[in-house]
Amino acid sequence: MVQTAAEREAKLRALAESEGYDTVDELLQAASFDSVIPGICVHCDYTTEVEPDQRQGWCEACGRSSVQSTLVLAGLI
Ligand SMILES: [Zn+2]
Repeated sequence: MVQTAAEREAKLRALAESEGYDTVDELLQAASFDSVIPGICVHCDYTTEVEPDQRQGWCEACGRSSVQSTLVLAGLI
């Protein structure tokens, strides 16, 4: 699955917004300390809670294994 840096950045911003954080940095800091963290589908904007290392989580919206965790999206894992 190919994603550009800009696409990942856009997903992270969407996630931060949906989780109520002002910045992506705040989202990442919060995610670093949790065992279950926000993830977002790379095909749509469906968000759900996933394990920190999740790269192929199930998206209930588009029926594909395309949910990535915040930390994976940010390239931190
Ligand atoms: Zn989806």
